[in-house]
Amino acid sequence: MFEEEYFFDCPYCGVSVSMLLDLSVAKQAYVEDCEVCCNPVNVSFRVIDDEVVDFRAEVDD
Ligand SMILES: [Zn+2]
Repeated sequence: MFEEEYFFDCPYCGVSVSMLLDLSVAKQAYVEDCEVCCNPVNVSFRVIDDEVVDFRAEVDD
């Protein structure tokens, strides 16, 4: 199980939140609700050598 807790600023409320990312899949994009404001955050990232790269957290539209 390759998981990493990743911290970023929510695009809605601006609060620093964390999500548990699954590093076993090389490219991912999904929507997850912000744990603070509950708005849907569009999360996308790639994984290279167990490192999260190109992480984006954007407003879901
Ligand atoms: Zn938020």
